[in-house]
Amino acid sequence: MPATVLVVGGAGFIGSHTCVELLQHGYEVVVVDDLSNSSPHSLERVAKIADTAVPVLYVMDIRDRSALSEVFRAHPIEAVIHFAAKKAVGESVGMPVEYYDNNVGGTTALVSAMREHGVRRLVFSSSCSVYGNAVKVPLTERDPVAPTNPYASSKWLCEQILTDVCRRVPGMNVLNLRYFNPVGAHPSGLLGEDPRGVPVNLMPYMSRVAHGRLARLRVFGDDYPTVDGTGVRDYVHVMDVAEGHRVALQHLDDEAGMRTFNLGTGVGSSVLQLIAAFEDATGRRIPYDVTDRRPGDVAALVADPTAVNRAWNWSTSRDLAAMCRDAWHFQSRNLAGYAD
Ligand code: UDP
Repeated sequence: MPATVLVVGGAGFIGSHTCVELLQHGYEVVVVDDLSNSSPHSLERVAKIADTAVPVLYVMDIRDRSALSEVFRAHPIEAVIHFAAKKAVGESVGMPVEYYDNNVGGTTALVSAMREHGVRRLVFSSSCSVYGNAVKVPLTERDPVAPTNPYASSKWLCEQILTDVCRRVPGMNVLNLRYFNPVGAHPSGLLGEDPRGVPVNLMPYMSRVAHGRLARLRVFGDDYPTVDGTGVRDYVHVMDVAEGHRVALQHLDDEAGMRTFNLGTGVGSSVLQLIAAFEDATGRRIPYDVTDRRPGDVAALVADPTAVNRAWNWSTSRDLAAMCRDAWHFQSRNLAGYAD
């Protein structure tokens, strides 16, 4: 019997790509998602790519404890991957209570259900934003954390909660993955990032400019202490992130307790470098204007991926050109996202 994995937030951007990866490697997948920023159609696409049945989907809020318990009762869940969270940095500044309630409350509800049902393996989605204004790059997992907004603080709080739970609950193993900037799409063009409304993140915004749905890109600041003054990030292909989760499942039992790993490539790219890579990969022009810095932004966040490379004998393999090509492929084939 294949192992059953509960993917919480499995209809979303990273979750859906991870479902493909798991199904293609013989796992049974059960999805819980409230569909607040995702579409159930993503799971139909997942099934098409993986050539399997559509994964079981429970549309619910994980803070609904009795409904969550029912899911654990109904399936022989061996491990959980927890993607479900609100994730817009700017929005979090204006809605701190909602962010803590959803992200922290969701995680405590999930961990309670896991404890109640004897499930002891969890892969948790954290974020490089916990590092805040990094004094140096690349960042190792031992560098200090200093969240600068409620979204990042909510992730850091979850990390602390999970650390305490692992100390207390015998046999509880958590892999805490701090993602850098996941972008791109499945190379089929069937699955990708389909944010509701106008995108806030660079790659989906740029894809819409390339397509003409948005007129011009705004480059938020060119006076950072970086290679060309624009913000530097470690963009990582979503298929590498998905693969990373599948590999993480195999390493959950390597060591007891809570372990933290960066999930990035180790390569930093500025906004202008990403624009140039996108233009090269797609043949499209990206008109842009340089504007003021975006509040809450930091100059540079780049992963040192050495720890994960060593621990799992695994590394990311897709470059910036593939990220741009695949993001554009999805965008150009799905003009209205999954609504098509
Ligand atoms: N950025 C930009 N224009 C946009 C969106 C983002 O110049 O329309 C910049 C942003 O200032 C940062 C980088 O692109 O330096 C990545 O931002 P994104 O929102 O994609 O991810 P974040 O690193 O904030 O999570």
